[in-house]
Amino acid sequence: MANTETPEPLTLTTEIPPIVARLRGAFASGRTKPVAWRRAQLRALRRLLTEERATLEKALKADLGKPPVEAHTTEIGFVVNEIDHTLKHLSSWLRPQRVSVPMALAPARARRVREPLGTVLIVSPWNYPVNLALSPLVGAIAAGNAAVVKPSELSPATSGALADLIPRYLDSEAVAVVEGGVTESTALLEERFDHIFYTGNSAVARIVMAAAVKHLTPLTLELGGKSPAVVEPGVDLATTARRLAWGKFTNAGQTCVAPDYVLAIGDTAEELQKELAAAITEMFGSDPARSPDYGRIVNERHFDRLSALLESGDVVAGGRTNREDLYIAPTVLGNVGADTPVMAEEIFGPILPVVRVPDLDSAIRFVNERDKPLALYGFTNSDVTKRRLTTETSSGGLGFGLPIAHLAVPDLPFGGVGESGMGAYHSAASIDTFSHTKSVLDKSLLMDTMRVAYAPISQVKERI
Ligand code: NAD
Repeated sequence: MANTETPEPLTLTTEIPPIVARLRGAFASGRTKPVAWRRAQLRALRRLLTEERATLEKALKADLGKPPVEAHTTEIGFVVNEIDHTLKHLSSWLRPQRVSVPMALAPARARRVREPLGTVLIVSPWNYPVNLALSPLVGAIAAGNAAVVKPSELSPATSGALADLIPRYLDSEAVAVVEGGVTESTALLEERFDHIFYTGNSAVARIVMAAAVKHLTPLTLELGGKSPAVVEPGVDLATTARRLAWGKFTNAGQTCVAPDYVLAIGDTAEELQKELAAAITEMFGSDPARSPDYGRIVNERHFDRLSALLESGDVVAGGRTNREDLYIAPTVLGNVGADTPVMAEEIFGPILPVVRVPDLDSAIRFVNERDKPLALYGFTNSDVTKRRLTTETSSGGLGFGLPIAHLAVPDLPFGGVGESGMGAYHSAASIDTFSHTKSVLDKSLLMDTMRVAYAPISQVKERI
């Protein structure tokens, strides 16, 4: 059952200014800039993840009932892969890039040079509390920054584990964990940072953005929204259903890129619903409450919110709940109207509504009438449909034939657009996010080829 661990004591708000000052001092000293320091920290973080895997899995089990295999593939192992990929490519990502110089300035050289931003703040949510705290940290360190990590208070066991482990493995002069909720986040946001990386909901994002204004701090916002899955007639509905069920019910639907709802085109809805029910039984058995592979809802507030959404359509699979255990069965809702409560907000739980639409035009219109989603999924055999979904809709990411997995392609930047966020990260995109790209022009003083530009130049101008 979730959240049974005693929460660790939170960081005192009076401790926050000295922590940030310590980190700023470390950055100013140049400590974090050498690539050797960055590599050593990334290797230390990798050791933390491998040596303390059991501790982290236990914390994820306590917070979210997360099965250990899922904890590894979607969180711990995911960050290890991110570190390995970063260590492998870091030198090439950091290499200055030569660009050509216009004839009028020749001879000269020009290049783009990466420099770290300084001290960055990473505020993360509860649903993937290891991954979403540490993947941005990999980028922040790789780019040469000092960093404060603020895990979510709604996943207290993981927050406590990170606060305990990070100082034991990483350089405490340059990397710190601040634990707490709104009070501590608010105190942190009073401080001057050189970048804020926020993952969570769009209401709090507005508070974070307003706070960033004070110090003119740039920020990345990794938000959510309702990610649709468009299913066309003629596709293999059994495979489609298995992949949708996998994407939706991993972490009990509490995944920012989970397919939020299905737009079933033409006559696909009936058959798809049957196949979804079959896929759920195949994956989690006839009683998913007893499945070792199925997680729980994070807390009572979200449980109550989700339970109320079950009224929005006909339950064609699942529907069972147990508040004591924070259990909501993997559920498929049929006959869902576009104006029902389940379609009004991001579901962020194991409920998959199937909405019928007559054709692809209607599906595209349905998507475009709403906020830009974090992801859009298309299940189709048609290249024309793929092209239309790519060019006629806007979303953070786009997956054909498979939900959520675009995140696992290291070189695909991950981020939203519009209401689903701004900025992106993972791999080289993290270096972009956590660096400034400085434009450098280098012209020799040995020969003054610039004389032509100096006054008096009016006669030259007349000839141009
Ligand atoms: P949450 O409640 O854990 O909040 C996220 C963080 O914001 C926490 O660290 C919290 O302490 C902090 N916070 C809360 N109130 C604050 C305030 N008033 N001022 C400053 N900080 C504050 O998580 P959540 O927001 O419920 O997360 C779920 C949302 O996040 C969903 O919308 C989901 O789609 C989105 N999400 C997006 C991604 C992504 O990568 N794009 C990943 C996961 C979740």
